[in-house]
Amino acid sequence: MQGQRHIRLTSPKPGPYSLFRVGASLLLHQSTASSDAPRIITGANVENAAYPVGTCAERVAMGTAVVSGHKLGDFKAVGVATDMDDFCSPCGMCRQFLREFLGLDVPIFMFNKEGKYIVRKMGELLPLSFGPDVLPPREELKKAREQEANGA
Ligand SMILES: [Zn+2]
Repeated sequence: MQGQRHIRLTSPKPGPYSLFRVGASLLLHQSTASSDAPRIITGANVENAAYPVGTCAERVAMGTAVVSGHKLGDFKAVGVATDMDDFCSPCGMCRQFLREFLGLDVPIFMFNKEGKYIVRKMGELLPLSFGPDVLPPREELKKAREQEANGA
């Protein structure tokens, strides 16, 4: 993945409030990408006058992917890029959001403005994380609730 390329593709201008450009890209496994669809899904930070309502590039990209039908197991790697000197690391909210859809071994490449990067696996960025595999199956929860309701 080339960080600067993804910034240009996904974030043609900086956010109007932070002036911080961030681009994120999700690389799909070849087997999960339809032949006519791109293997890379991109996103950019979308800012809002009500600052906390803005959305990071990582969640924009993953939301686009999920709406397109992609799910846990479909993603081979993630790239996050900015035009700053430091490597761009996903914020805590994005780490949790990505964790829902990424295997713990999926690499996340964090680029700086020179296109250099560091890489960490999902599980390294969010150790001891809470994810969908932690929850009991719905059927099990439903049965437990029914037993509670019946006084069992
Ligand atoms: Zn974020």
